[in-house]
Amino acid sequence: MLIRESDLTPIERRLVDEAMRIRPRAYAVYSNYRVGAAVADANGGIHVGANMEGADYTLTVHAEQHAMNAMRLATDAKAVALAFAVESPAESPSPCGVCRQRIREFAADLKMPIVAVSLAPDLTIARLHRYAFDYLLPHSFGPENLGK
Ligand SMILES: [Zn+2]
Repeated sequence: MLIRESDLTPIERRLVDEAMRIRPRAYAVYSNYRVGAAVADANGGIHVGANMEGADYTLTVHAEQHAMNAMRLATDAKAVALAFAVESPAESPSPCGVCRQRIREFAADLKMPIVAVSLAPDLTIARLHRYAFDYLLPHSFGPENLGK
């Protein structure tokens, strides 16, 4: 759903700012598609990630996965909100399927907000979309399916 900056909750605002702040650290020398992501854990911690590519093209780690993995390294707490920022020609950028599954693994709540930040060419916010996570990955497979 398209939202305004004034619709962001305080934690979403912080995640948007962190995703935009870390985005220039992406190592996207092949695609030039730089993505920054930030995730909040249930204890109030913020963890960031950016996409990291490799010359062999198979070692790419996406920003959302990177942020989720950073969270897991720092805490056992689950994720409560995530934002990612990218300059994209799409109306609303969207996490890839692999990233959705990674978010699913550590989501505290399947309704957790995912905020997609579309950056303008001058890297200001062009559009914001907010999705409940289970809108992006309905009927998902997760730890519960393995009794965890
Ligand atoms: Zn991805």
